[in-house]
Amino acid sequence: MIIGLIDVDSKIPNLALMKISAWHKTQGDEVEFYMPLWKYDKVYASKVFDFTNTPDLPEGCVSGGTGFDLTTILPDEIESIYPDYELYRCDYAIGFITRGCIRKCKFCVVPEKEGMIRRVSNPLSFWNGQARIMLLDNNLTAHPDCMEILKELKETKAQINFAQGLDLRLMTPEIANELRDVRIWKQIHTAWDNIKEEKIIIKGLEIMFEAGIRPRNIMSYVLIGYKTTKEEDMYRIEKLRGLGVKPFVMPYDKKDKYQRRFARWVNHKATFYTVSWEDYR
Ligand code: SF4
Repeated sequence: MIIGLIDVDSKIPNLALMKISAWHKTQGDEVEFYMPLWKYDKVYASKVFDFTNTPDLPEGCVSGGTGFDLTTILPDEIESIYPDYELYRCDYAIGFITRGCIRKCKFCVVPEKEGMIRRVSNPLSFWNGQARIMLLDNNLTAHPDCMEILKELKETKAQINFAQGLDLRLMTPEIANELRDVRIWKQIHTAWDNIKEEKIIIKGLEIMFEAGIRPRNIMSYVLIGYKTTKEEDMYRIEKLRGLGVKPFVMPYDKKDKYQRRFARWVNHKATFYTVSWEDYR
């Protein structure tokens, strides 16, 4: 069979498509990215975001991903396969060791899509000696095996990117000490979404600092536009800046002019560190 794949909006190599590709190749099928004038026996489309446009899809196309719905999942035999990184010429490994989360943040699709946190794999299922690993786990620090998983990651000697962020509210000296010894790819990602959680968030950061993790090696996502005022957005940004931690703004409503502009100001570091918000506006 000839298989066509449509990647609607991924910003990084699409894990589901790489697994679908790997599985079809084990069946002896040819796999390529979909081209409209070509004939395919089967077409798959994946869409990650719900705010991007959906293109016209060919008839019979199998679609999945958070951008389409929260319920479609890959069959176990595809989910558990080693991804076809060649599809994107991707030179790093990508995967989940845990899925789900213990929390139920109202602005997040994870509780509904993934359910309660559980372990789904180990690094060896999606890593084969690559120098870098991108982890897509939603809340690794919340899993009871967190320490064991960090040890496994350390043993790979690969650089690790905790792409979705670690939960500062669950930071302990033990976790921070283990994290310090993991080779980090760029920065350790964390998050501060709710202004009311200032005390516990700062405490989590202090635990990391005490373990020897430098503030400049930590980045914190900052959700704006969801039950926060502009003053509270600025307060969190400046608080993090004062601690030496890099803020990264995530707008809740990407169509909102203020949210888009504020995110652009903070996230463009050359601008953020040289131009005030007043001047930027
Ligand atoms: S802690 Fe993170 S992953 Fe879990 S529900 Fe909240 S935002 Fe989503």
